[in-house]
Amino acid sequence: MSPPGRAKGEDRSAQHAGSPAAGARKRDGALPLVLPGATLGVMGGGQLGRMFVHAAQRMGYFTAVLDPDPHSPAGRVSHEHVQADYLDEIGLAKLCGHSDAITTEFENVPAQALAQMAEHRPVSPGAAAVAIAQDRAEEKAHFTRCGVACAPHAVIANEEDLAAVADDLLPGILKTARLGYDGKGQVRVATRAQLRAGWESLKRTTCVLEKMLPLAFECSVLVARGRDGAIVHLPVQRNLHRDGILAVTEVHENGVAADQATQAIAATRRIAEGLDYVGVLCVEFFGLEDGSLVVNEMAPRPHNSGHWSMDAADVSQFELQVRTLAGLPLTQPRQHSPAVMLNLLGDLWFRAGEQAQAPDWAAVLALPGTHLHLYGKLDARPGRKMGHLNVTGANVDAVRATALRAAHILGIAPF
Ligand code: ATP
Ligand code: MG
Repeated sequence: MSPPGRAKGEDRSAQHAGSPAAGARKRDGALPLVLPGATLGVMGGGQLGRMFVHAAQRMGYFTAVLDPDPHSPAGRVSHEHVQADYLDEIGLAKLCGHSDAITTEFENVPAQALAQMAEHRPVSPGAAAVAIAQDRAEEKAHFTRCGVACAPHAVIANEEDLAAVADDLLPGILKTARLGYDGKGQVRVATRAQLRAGWESLKRTTCVLEKMLPLAFECSVLVARGRDGAIVHLPVQRNLHRDGILAVTEVHENGVAADQATQAIAATRRIAEGLDYVGVLCVEFFGLEDGSLVVNEMAPRPHNSGHWSMDAADVSQFELQVRTLAGLPLTQPRQHSPAVMLNLLGDLWFRAGEQAQAPDWAAVLALPGTHLHLYGKLDARPGRKMGHLNVTGANVDAVRATALRAAHILGIAPF
């Protein structure tokens, strides 16, 4: 990729910020502080990019999004939208040209693209950390290096690996090592025959077979780590998944026992430090029936389970992403209300039949403490994340009662 040129007129950041002419670093080797008025770029135009863009714009930044989709949720609300593929050299150079610093909202963004852009602009998270998070086998190796227990597992890359699988990993879940999300690229297998059939159905791509664990609950922790190594975290989030997709997140004192919460936060910090991570990192955990905690996976970006922070914490996960990217100070977020988040999947649009029909927003918004977030997606489809509803209130009972009423109106099963 050639060094990004800043074409006059198409480049807001050039007019507003004193960014380095070439190279990501200042003469003394430090990355520049990127202050409001500059332009923040993001790889990926999905809902996470959209909420990042909103947070950045609220703080006085201009924004640029790279996404091939002309109707992408983030592209629609950004000052600049570079419509290009994630490996398109011209597109990447354009994003660099527009931006004073660049982040990603999409964990499967090619790590190579991040590495290329980091030669010209501050980029966080870094390519090496993102590359590890993109591969379940490498991710698990990293957890183990950090002394954090994960599910017993085996990597299956070939016939020999398949034959060598220990019997006690069954029943298990076979997951593609790369490119899985929302339970996609996963097959549950109980026998060796099913394991073979499952691997064939996943086109014999490299997979991780994980032992099926007896889950008591699931939780996640979101940390933000700055360039100086300072770390802050959001309170532990209790997550309910349905069909492999996050359905409900609850964040309040009845969510996760204090000792398990402390353990999860400490493990997440170690995982972030081990990566020398800069940015927002979410780590998902399984709480097992015997009271132990094992790590599931990590996301090198804000996470669906952190969306509650937009309405119930004084710093949201997206503001944390802005701050880490810009090199701004991090302060420990304070939760000011118990919170429940309901994911709004496209299924809710099809309760009345085959014709898509939006849920009764007015009825939901008549409930006190409800905060509706919709991502501007044109078509509802089953399983598609269309938005989320945050519920806040004076105490846990009130918040849960309101969330259950909202769920009933929306057609979400009680929790
Ligand atoms: P995400 O959207 O979070 O990226 P994903 O497709 O990467 O999802 P996982 O997080 O691996 O999928 O699994 C999805 C869900 O399936 C988990 O949240 C959990 O409910 C269940 N699950 C996954 N692995 C196991 C396991 N080893 N034992 C029991 N349940 C599991
Ligand atoms: Mg997951």
